[in-house]
Amino acid sequence: MNSFSPNMLKTFEICPKKYYFKYVQNISVPQPVSFFEKGKKIHALANYYLKGADISNLLRELSFEEHQIWENLLNNEFFQKSYVNSEYNLSAKVGDFWIGGRLDALMKNLSLTSPLAGEGASLADGGLKSDIYYILDYKTGSIPKNPEYDYQTMVYLICADRLLKTYGTLKFVYIDLKNNKNCVIEFTPERRIEYTEKLTKICTEISQTQDVASSSDNCKFCEYVKFCF
Ligand code: SF4
Repeated sequence: MNSFSPNMLKTFEICPKKYYFKYVQNISVPQPVSFFEKGKKIHALANYYLKGADISNLLRELSFEEHQIWENLLNNEFFQKSYVNSEYNLSAKVGDFWIGGRLDALMKNLSLTSPLAGEGASLADGGLKSDIYYILDYKTGSIPKNPEYDYQTMVYLICADRLLKTYGTLKFVYIDLKNNKNCVIEFTPERRIEYTEKLTKICTEISQTQDVASSSDNCKFCEYVKFCF
C-alpha cells in the first residue's frame, strides 16, 4: 500500500467520494494555472536558495508582489536558521499504515537544552547539548484554520520525530508570507500520542470505507462536481 499524504487525508475528511475520484480512480481535474503559480515560484526559489544555487535569474522574473513575499521569507527568523534539508520526503508508519509527504524545509539551531534539564540549562549545569529542529511550511495564501490539527502538521511532525528522535525539541512553523507572521506549533509527548491516534483512525477509516456517499456541504467549490451528480 502507498503512504497516505496530508492531502489524501484532508480530501477524505472533506468528502470520501472526492477521495475516491481523486485517489482511487485517479481522475485529475485541471485547476487554473494562476491558482498555484505564485506559491510554486516562491517554493522553488526558496529551495534553490537553501541549496546554495545562484538565483539571480529567477529573481529577475518575480513581480513586485512576489518580490515582497520573497523578502518576507528571506528576513524570516526561522528561514535564517541552520539549513538541514529542503523539499524533503519523509514517511513513517502509524498502526498498519504508512503516512508521508514532502516538507518545504527542515532547519535547526543548536541549543543548550535537555529533556532533563529544560530550557536555559548549560552543559556545566548538566544539560545536554541538543538541536532544536523546525519544520517550515511557507504559505503565500492563508495558513490552516486549525493549524495544530491540520493533517499536514500532524503527518510531518510524526514523520520528522521518528527520523530525528527529537525528544521534545521539534516545532512546526507555518510562515504566513502575506501577513508576515509565524504560527509555531510545539511537538510535545502528549501530541505525539494524540496525533498518532488521529492519523491511525483516519487511515483505518479510509481503508474500511466502501460506501462513498455524497457530501452536499462541500459540493459548491468542488472540482469533481460534474462527475458526481
Ligand atoms: S461534488 Fe460534492 S459529493 Fe461530489 S465529490 Fe465533490 S464534494 Fe463530494
